[in-house]
Amino acid sequence: MLPIIHRNVGWIEVISGCMFSGKTEELIRRLRRAIIARQKVAIFKPRIDNRYSADHLVSHSDLKIPSRVVEHPREILELALESQVVGIDEAQFFDADLVPVCQKLANMGKRVIVAGLDMDYRGEPFEPMPQLMATAEYVTKTSAICVICGNPAHFTQRKTHDSERVIVGAADIYEARCRNCFEPPPREESDESS
Ligand code: ZN
Repeated sequence: MLPIIHRNVGWIEVISGCMFSGKTEELIRRLRRAIIARQKVAIFKPRIDNRYSADHLVSHSDLKIPSRVVEHPREILELALESQVVGIDEAQFFDADLVPVCQKLANMGKRVIVAGLDMDYRGEPFEPMPQLMATAEYVTKTSAICVICGNPAHFTQRKTHDSERVIVGAADIYEARCRNCFEPPPREESDESS
């Protein structure tokens, strides 16, 4: 899929989909290939995600790769200075500054691979993923399998009634659903922004 790339030309790849669609697995797969090719790889995730391990990316299937936790996207610019490949997981938990940071990294000649949820539990686009997808050279949409009917699933169903946008959890709180089986939460009367 990727064209022949001359040295020092960077680009952005986005891996995006619902929960349990294998985003982190795919990110780890791509990063492993780069490590095998002896490229310098730096991997980051936001502080909010402490589900499994603070210093590793861990997929639901228990694939692992060392990573660093950062508070703000700006930190990635400094920490990734020496790297040829930059991996970022759970990108939806970073603020909008992640977009110019990824652009800068790519402009510096780096391959930037970003994974994140495309929609929140209401089925709404989860910033900054839409902006990243629009400006990336390559976008891969991953799908899961609907736990109700077995069709391809693109939605993340929250099984609790909490209305905060970010509640960290796994199969205890969320499941993958297709368009037909997804039940978005009732809309709040006063449309409070989270
Ligand atoms: Zn379904």
